[in-house]
Amino acid sequence: MLIVSSSKNLLESILSALSNEVRAEVLKLISMEGPLSFTEIMGKLEMNPKSDAGKFGYHLRMLTDAELIKADEASGKYYLTLLGQDVANFIYGVEDAVRRKKGEMLVRTSSLTIEPFDRKKIIDALIREASVPRKLAESISKEAEDRLKKLQVRYLTAALIREFVNAILLEKGLEEYRHALTRLGQPVYDVTTTIKGSAFRDYPSPEKVHSLAGDAVFEEYTLLKILPRTIADAHLCGALHLNNANYWALRPADIHHDIRPILQGKIPADGQGLLHPSHYAPRTLKGALYIVNSLIRTTSKLVSNSQSIGFFNIFLSPYIVKMEDDEVKSNLRDFLYELNSCNGGNGASQVAVNVELEVPQFLQGVKCYLPEGDGGVYGDYSKEALHFLELFLEVMNETDGHDKPILSPSILLKIRKKALVTDDSESCLEKAYGLAETFGNVYFVNQSLPWQTENVFYNGDLSRVDSSWKDWESGTFRVGTLDNITMNLPRVAYEAKGDDDRLFERLRELLELSREALSIKRQIIEERICSDRLLPLFKEEVGGNNYLRLNDCSGIISYVGLPEAVQYHTGLDVMDSDEALKLSEKIVESINEYTRQIVPSMRLLASSITFEPSAYRLTNLDLVSGYVKTKSIPIYTEHSNLPLTTPIPLKKRLNVEESFQHITKGGHFLDIRLEEPFPTKEVLANYTKRIMETANIGLFAFTRDFTYCWHCHSTKYGFHDKCPVCGYDGNRLLLFTRAFGKIKPSNTWNVHDRQFATGNQKFTL
Ligand SMILES: [Zn+2]
Repeated sequence: MLIVSSSKNLLESILSALSNEVRAEVLKLISMEGPLSFTEIMGKLEMNPKSDAGKFGYHLRMLTDAELIKADEASGKYYLTLLGQDVANFIYGVEDAVRRKKGEMLVRTSSLTIEPFDRKKIIDALIREASVPRKLAESISKEAEDRLKKLQVRYLTAALIREFVNAILLEKGLEEYRHALTRLGQPVYDVTTTIKGSAFRDYPSPEKVHSLAGDAVFEEYTLLKILPRTIADAHLCGALHLNNANYWALRPADIHHDIRPILQGKIPADGQGLLHPSHYAPRTLKGALYIVNSLIRTTSKLVSNSQSIGFFNIFLSPYIVKMEDDEVKSNLRDFLYELNSCNGGNGASQVAVNVELEVPQFLQGVKCYLPEGDGGVYGDYSKEALHFLELFLEVMNETDGHDKPILSPSILLKIRKKALVTDDSESCLEKAYGLAETFGNVYFVNQSLPWQTENVFYNGDLSRVDSSWKDWESGTFRVGTLDNITMNLPRVAYEAKGDDDRLFERLRELLELSREALSIKRQIIEERICSDRLLPLFKEEVGGNNYLRLNDCSGIISYVGLPEAVQYHTGLDVMDSDEALKLSEKIVESINEYTRQIVPSMRLLASSITFEPSAYRLTNLDLVSGYVKTKSIPIYTEHSNLPLTTPIPLKKRLNVEESFQHITKGGHFLDIRLEEPFPTKEVLANYTKRIMETANIGLFAFTRDFTYCWHCHSTKYGFHDKCPVCGYDGNRLLLFTRAFGKIKPSNTWNVHDRQFATGNQKFTL
C-alpha cells in the first residue's frame, strides 16, 4: 500500500514538473549537454541571473523533488537521473509527434543532433559550397522541400537531403554545381566487402580497413576536386593512369633521405620533436641505427611508395671504428628486425638502401660530424665503409628465428669504375653475389656509365634520380618523386589508325596532360607542407631550406604496352622486326625529349616503371570501350619494353633493354628471372661483370623463386604446391618471387602479381 501510494505521489510530482515549459527545457538541455551548474543552465536558457534566480530555483527544486535531476555534491552540477533521462526521451517523442502532425520535418544532422527542417540551410550550403546564385539556390531549396514533404520519411537525414538536392541539380542540367556538392564515401556494401576482404591484403589489420575506406574517399576527392576534368576523365576512361590516386592529394610518392642532419641531431627524426623524445646525436652505431629506424618509421606515413637511404654504409662507417665484427652484426640484426616489424603496418612503404663499394670522389673531402670533436672527412673511412657493407651483406644473407629470409631493405649496390678494375672490393662483391644466389635481394647499379652521372640513386619503387639536375647533393638528396603518370600507348595507337603524325600528336596531348597533372601535384604537396602542415618532417629546416627540396622533386611519366602499340600501328612484331623496334625507340625517345624540354621549369623524367600495376586496368578499359574488336587480348606489357611472356633469348632482351634504359631516366629495370638449377655465385659474378663492362644497362637484378614452409621452416627453391620436406600444403606455404620489381611473398600477391610471378619467361645464363 505504501509503495503504491509513493509511486502515485512520484507520478503526480513528475506530471506537475512537466507542466511548465522552462522545466521541460531544463531536462532537454541537460540530456543534450551533460551535467550543468545552476548558472550555466540559466545562461543557456537566457534567463537573468538576478531577477529570475528565485523563480528558477523553484523550477529546479520541483525537478529535484520529482527525482528527475540530482545535484552532484562535489561539482554542484545537476545531472539527469535514469528516470529523468526516460522522461526527457518522452518529451522528445511528444515533440516529434506534434511536428509530424503539423507536417513539420525533423532532420538528423551530421553532427548527431536533431533539428527541425530549415530550408535556409539548403540555400546556405548551395551558396557556400558551390557558389550557386541566391535566386537559383532559393528555387532549388523550395523544390527540395516540396518533394521531401510528399515523401513522409520518418528518418530524414542531412545526407538524404543532399542527395535530393543533387538529383534536382542533375535534372536541371546543373552538373558542375552537383560536383561541388556531392558527398564522398562508400556504399555500405563496399565497406562490408573491405572488412571481409582485408585479410587477403598486405598486413591485414583494422588499421588497414580504415586506410582502404579512406583511400576510396581520397581517390574520388582527387578526381573531383584536385584535378581538372580533362585529366580526371583521361584517367577514368583509361587513356592515362594516375598512380597512387588514393594518395595524390596528400603525399609524394617517395624520398631519398640524407641521414646526416638527423644523425647530427639538427632535426628530430619524428619530424616535430614535440610528441616523441628528441634524440641526442648518437655516439654509437646502435644509437645511429635506432635514429635511422625512427626516421623510416616517421616517413612511412608521409610517402605513398618508398624511401631510400643514400650512402648508407658510408655515413654509418665512422661509428664502427674500434668495434668488433660480432657487435656490428648484432646491431645490424636489431636494426633489421625493428625495421621489418614496424614498417609493414599502415602505409607498408618500401625501404631501400643505396650502398657503395668506395667513397666517391665528391664525398672524400666532406666533413664528417661526430659528437666527440673532429670526425675528419668521409674519405678517411673508406676501409670501414667497405667492411661495414660486407658485414651488412652477411647479416642480410641470414634468416630469422623461423629460418625465413629478411627481405627489407632492398639493397642497391652501386658499382663504380674502380671496383671493376681493382681487387679492393672483391670480398664484398662476393658476399653480394652470394646474397643474389640465395634470396636475390640485391639490385646491381652500374654507376660507371656516363649517363649515370656523378651520382645516381634508385628507390625501392625503382624510380631514379641523378646529379645532372643541379649537383650530387641537391640533385639526389632530400628529393623524391612527386608521382608517376602512366600512358596507355596501345590506346594512342588505336586512335592514330596507322597515321604516324596522329600517333605522335596524340602522344604529345597525353604528355601535356601528364605534365599538368604533375605540376598540380607539386602545388598540392607544397600546400600540404607549408600551409596545411600535414608533412612536418618535410618542413623542418636544413641549411636554410625545407628538409624536402620540393622544387627538385621529379614528376615521372611512364608507359605500358609499348610492344602492343607498335605491333598495332605497323602490323610488325618487335621481336623480329628492326623497323618495329626503331618505332619503339622513337616513341620512348619522344617522351624523353618532351621531358627534357620542360626542364628547368619542372624536373620531369621518362620511365618504363609503373608504381602500381596499371596494365590490367588499361587493357580492360580498351576492351570495354570497344577500341579492340576481339573479346579478349593479352594484358599489355608493363615494366618492360619487350613482352615478358614470350620466350626471347636473354641476350636479345638485354640488347633491346639497353637501348631504352638511358632514355628512361626516371626509372628502368632489367629483371633477369632465372630457372632452376640456379647458376652458382661464380657464374652470377662473371655475368654481372660482363654486363657492367659491355652493356648499357644501369639497373638489373637476378630473380630466384623459392618456397617457404611455415610448418617445418624449410626453404626450397622453385615454386611448390606442397612442401617437399614435410608435405604441408596449407595457406602458410609461401611462394616468393620478384613481381613488378619487388620481392614479395604469395600471401600479399594480388591477381596482377600472381600473373607476373607465374606467367613470365625465365632464363638460363
Ligand atoms: Zn614443410
